[in-house]
Amino acid sequence: MSLRVLVVEDDREIRSVMQSALTLEGYAVQTAVTLAEASALLQHSPPDLIVLDLGLPDGEGLDLVRAVRRQSSVPIVVVSARHQEAQKIALLDAGADDYLTKPFSVAELLARLRVALRHRGTALAAAVTTHSLDDLHVDLATRAVLREGQPVHLTPTEFDLLARLVRSAGKVVTHRQLLADVWGPEYTEHTHYLRLYMGQLRAKLERTPAEPRHLLTETGVGYRLATE
Ligand code: CA
Repeated sequence: MSLRVLVVEDDREIRSVMQSALTLEGYAVQTAVTLAEASALLQHSPPDLIVLDLGLPDGEGLDLVRAVRRQSSVPIVVVSARHQEAQKIALLDAGADDYLTKPFSVAELLARLRVALRHRGTALAAAVTTHSLDDLHVDLATRAVLREGQPVHLTPTEFDLLARLVRSAGKVVTHRQLLADVWGPEYTEHTHYLRLYMGQLRAKLERTPAEPRHLLTETGVGYRLATE
C-alpha cells in the first residue's frame, strides 16, 4: 500500500509541483490549502507524513504541529520562506521533524521525506544506535567512535553531543534541542557551548574541519549529521 502524504500548502503552483512529484514517487497524496482543511483531513484519514507550509491563510502552523503531536508521532516536514526563520525553529522545537527552505528542489524534498519516514520506522522498531558514513563509524552501545578505522577519543560531553545527532541522523536538530538534551533544560540559551564543542568534534572527526562532511551547520537553526 502506498504511503500517504498530506501536503498543506496554499500556493497553488508549489502545491501542484509537490503533488505531481510525490505521486510519481509512489506516494498517495492528499492536499489541503488551509489549516482548517488539514485538520479535517487529519481526523478523517490520518496520513503517514505531513508536509506543512508555514504561511497559511487561516493561521499558524505551530497550532497544527501541537495538535498533531498530542495524538501522534507522524513525521512533519515544515516548508518555509527565508524570512520565517524564527517560526520555523519554534515548529521544530514543538515536534516538527525537519524543514525545507523555499525555493527547494524536488530531489531535496524527496530526500527529507525519506529521512523523516526512516525515523518513524526506527522509532517504532528500535532506536538508532549506530551510524556509518564514509570514514566515520559510531556505535553508541559500545561508545566506539572510529575515523578511518582508528579509534577517536572523545570527552563525555563531546560523545553525548555526537550521540544526540546520531539518534537523529539526517535530520536537523535545533540549538535548543541539543542544549537541553546534552547540557540540560536550563542551558538552552548557552549557544556558545555548542559552537565550542562542535568545533572540538569537527577537529576530531572531520578531514577538513572548516568544510565539514559529517557535522553540518544549519545556519541560524542547528546542526545535522549527514547520512548521504
Ligand atoms: Ca504559503
